[in-house]
Amino acid sequence: MDREYAKKVQKEVCVTAKAMADGGLTAGTWGNISGRIDDTYMVITPSGMDYSKLTPDQMVVVNMKTGEYEGDLKPSVEVPIHSRILLTRPEVNGVVHTHSSKALAVAVTRKGIPPICDDQVQILGGDVRCAGYTYPGSQEMAESVCEALHERFGALIANHGSITLGRNLKEALIAATVLEKTAQIWIDVQALGGAVEISREDCEFFHEFFMNKYGQKK
Ligand SMILES: [Zn+2]
Repeated sequence: MDREYAKKVQKEVCVTAKAMADGGLTAGTWGNISGRIDDTYMVITPSGMDYSKLTPDQMVVVNMKTGEYEGDLKPSVEVPIHSRILLTRPEVNGVVHTHSSKALAVAVTRKGIPPICDDQVQILGGDVRCAGYTYPGSQEMAESVCEALHERFGALIANHGSITLGRNLKEALIAATVLEKTAQIWIDVQALGGAVEISREDCEFFHEFFMNKYGQKK
């Protein structure tokens, strides 16, 4: 493991956890964040700690293949989900899991959100699926969440919350904000008689654009 790089990831995970809390995406100590170090190791937030008091060295280095961790602080109970995503999605380097209120409101219906907003389809890749109801921290939850995330960068977890991915932690946090906003819109439009969905071709075109052409890249 590249120790210097691991320290950089610890710092990024800590900064992102505080930004998630400051952005109103979480309540109390719920939710957790991870960042990839390499193909074997990740950094994840510790279990049940106050976000405002977190320091980078408290972010836990975990072996994704064995679940073993370094240091005295226990990692988040959601290690199985984060490990499985990072091990099976090589393009993903950051994962944000929250119990934000609007996403959770939709998740308790155990239904997903169709493709309805441009930023949703660009960043999350299309419709948002809802993973089935399973116990937090279980392998079953890791499996059903990974299935719901197939070719997507965000999903709901039944009666629990949401999970978003990014090529870096910044993108994963933006995805969490976009998913929360999409859930709010989805709830709002019910009162207006529903939404007109974005076509599958347009979803693919916009997501492709975001992944490869968006921003200042030439
Ligand atoms: Zn959770």
